[in-house]
Amino acid sequence: MKSYRKELWFNVTGRREFINITPQVQECLRESGVSEGLVLVNAMHITASVFINDDESGLHKDYEKWLEKLAPHAPISQYRHNDTGEDNADAHMKRQIMGREVVVAITDGQLDFGTWEQIFYGEFDGRRRKRVLVKIIGE
Ligand code: ZN
Repeated sequence: MKSYRKELWFNVTGRREFINITPQVQECLRESGVSEGLVLVNAMHITASVFINDDESGLHKDYEKWLEKLAPHAPISQYRHNDTGEDNADAHMKRQIMGREVVVAITDGQLDFGTWEQIFYGEFDGRRRKRVLVKIIGE
């Protein structure tokens, strides 16, 4: 069995952003030489997500609005987590809803996606360097 590991680094300038990382994951798959197996992609931070959905800007604006309704950033005093001096309680909650990781099947050397599926990095507390782990196993 082949095994491959790589960290992808991101430095989002704003607080929140969605980035399509499908090309980077496809590059990892090419480097791994695996043609049948599984790829795991996970955020290595508790205020960021990896998720699969459509690369459609209206949908991403809808996510932003929906997440802000569920866990508004302000007022930061509404969250006990922020009593520690942090201001990112909302980012922890947004990450929880959007998920930590995705697993995608690899078939014939390709990511075996459903229609319109793409892999995204979801940043909810940016302005610093953060990592995503790509782990590929298979033959
Ligand atoms: Zn925090």
